[in-house]
Amino acid sequence: MPKSAGTGSVGIDLGLKTAATCSDAMHKFSTGLVERNAAIFVGNVQAGAMVKTRMAKSTLDAGWSMMKTMLEYKSHQAGIVFEEVNEAYTTQTCSRCGGIPASSPKGRTGLRMRRWTCCDCGAEHHRDVNAARNIAARGHARLAGGIPVL
Ligand SMILES: [Zn+2]
Repeated sequence: MPKSAGTGSVGIDLGLKTAATCSDAMHKFSTGLVERNAAIFVGNVQAGAMVKTRMAKSTLDAGWSMMKTMLEYKSHQAGIVFEEVNEAYTTQTCSRCGGIPASSPKGRTGLRMRRWTCCDCGAEHHRDVNAARNIAARGHARLAGGIPVL
């Protein structure tokens, strides 16, 4: 993946919702992402059962949907790709080998696992970084597979 400004791509995971509470920080974060990347992929929140209590969920979802709205319009203004991708299993899937190993975070206890090691290939993962990599990979696969050329 190219490292130069404006030509990279990034996947964004639900975990970042926790940082998305102050709108000034969200503006800086979203503008920075759009300046550094040519493609931005976000996970769809509906698939996530990350937050169980109703109040915490609505608060986090409000921040996340605002962040997505900002990213979407800033991406369109800048003329870069913005795609929402299905994030089901992106937390459990190993971004190196593509499997869903027995050691990956699952269910209620999995919510507390910030770091884990894939028992299939030995890769060490940070939970949110691994999920974000999977989201970016899905976005790329979708772009490669079927955006019609007009
Ligand atoms: Zn693996």
